[in-house]
Amino acid sequence: MTVEYRWGDGVQLKDKRLYVQNVGNLKVKWHREIPDQATIHCAYLKREGNEWFVVFSLELPDSAPTVHPGQPVGVDIGLHSLVALSDGQTIENPRWYRSTETKLVQAQRTLSRRKKFSGRWRQAARKVATLHRKVANQRLDFQHKLSRQLTDTHSLIAMEDLNILGLSRSRLAKSVHDAGWGQLITLLAYKAENAGSQVVLVDPRFTSQGCSECGCIVPKDLSVRVHRCPECGVVLDRDVNAARNILKRALPQTARTEPTVKSLSLDGCSREAAVL
Ligand SMILES: [Zn+2]
Repeated sequence: MTVEYRWGDGVQLKDKRLYVQNVGNLKVKWHREIPDQATIHCAYLKREGNEWFVVFSLELPDSAPTVHPGQPVGVDIGLHSLVALSDGQTIENPRWYRSTETKLVQAQRTLSRRKKFSGRWRQAARKVATLHRKVANQRLDFQHKLSRQLTDTHSLIAMEDLNILGLSRSRLAKSVHDAGWGQLITLLAYKAENAGSQVVLVDPRFTSQGCSECGCIVPKDLSVRVHRCPECGVVLDRDVNAARNILKRALPQTARTEPTVKSLSLDGCSREAAVL
C-alpha cells in the first residue's frame, strides 16, 4: 500500500521529523541524507508488512561533468568471495547479510514441513516473507555501498554482461546472486554518471577459463579456486583472474566507442517481489 503526497501539501519536514497531515509528527529512521541542494517533489508513504517507509522523489541540480582521476577496474561477481577486483582485492558479502540468508533458508524449510493453510503454516509464511524483505533490503544496502565505493575509486568499471547468451541461467546456480545482478548494475550506472566514471559491460565467455596474463585457455570447473597457468606460470585467485580478463575486454572497447551501459535488467527485482 502506498500513499502519494505532493511536497508541502499535507507533508513536510520539521527538524528531521516528518509531519503528515491528520497523523502528526513522525520519527524517521533516515537511511540516507537528503542533499541540501535537492528540491523535493513528492513523498510516498509505503507500507511493507508491518513497516512504513517514506520514499522521496527529488531533483538535484546538474553538476558539471568531471574527469575521474581513478584507475579502471574489472569486477567479477562470483558465488564464493562475492566480488573480486582486477587489482587483487576481494570483497566478501557482509556477515549480517549471510546470516539473514541462512535464517531465510531455515524458515523456508519450516514452512514446507507445515500443513498448508494451517495456523502454524501462516505463521511460518509470515516469517519467510519478513526475512525475504530483510534479505532484499540488506542486499540493496550493501550494493549501494559497494557501487559508491567503486565509482568513487575508479574511472571505469568493467563487468560481465550476463544477458549475453542468457548465461545467468546456466552458469549461476544461486538465485540470490542472480536477483542482485541487474540491481547492482543499475546502481552502478547512475552513481557512475554522477562521479564522472563509466560502466562497461563485456562478453562473459571464458572470463574464468582464459589466462589474464598470456591469454591461453586453462580449463577448470567451479571447485577449482586458483588459476594456475601451465604456459606462463602465473598463479592467481580464480575470481581475480576473471576480473582481469573482464577489464582487458573493456579497455579496447572504450577506446573505440562512446561508453554506454547496455542491456540493463531489473528482472531479478521482480522475481524478488513475487514472494508470498
Ligand atoms: Zn598464462
